[in-house]
Amino acid sequence: MVLPVCDVCLKSGMLCQGCENKLKSGEITQMDLDIAKILYKVGDGKIGFEKSIEIGDMIIIVTEKDQVGKLIGKSGKIVREISRTLGKKVRVVGENSDLRSVARDILAPARVSGINIVYGKDGQEKFKIRVMREDSRKIPGRLDVLNQIIKELTSDETTIVVDRD
Ligand SMILES: [Zn+2]
Repeated sequence: MVLPVCDVCLKSGMLCQGCENKLKSGEITQMDLDIAKILYKVGDGKIGFEKSIEIGDMIIIVTEKDQVGKLIGKSGKIVREISRTLGKKVRVVGENSDLRSVARDILAPARVSGINIVYGKDGQEKFKIRVMREDSRKIPGRLDVLNQIIKELTSDETTIVVDRD
């Protein structure tokens, strides 16, 4: 598992020509760079990630499925460190995850009670993600932002709703 920036750059704190070009072309972002620096420091070079997505006040870090736990850290230690350093909420998601696990990871600590398929007027398939009523206050952000994040990760159109009973 690798970071989007090379070791040389992480060690020196300056960008080599290769990484500089990646940043200029948009292949990596300043946010990727900032996250890579933190992980390099706290993870002994053993924790990597694929990419990061920044939407609203949230950063989604996408990594290999079996790396999710490592990146979150013991009782969320590493995620908290990233969150504190960057001043944003942080969520970690496994790459190529299905809608169910993406919804669960993005909405935590609020619990998902179910997902229904609904059809729009145009016949287009959408998904209604239901959150347990008692968890409505634990939803970690604005619903439109969360829907947008889920779409970015799964390409699915979703509507998050809170259970009524
Ligand atoms: Zn480099």
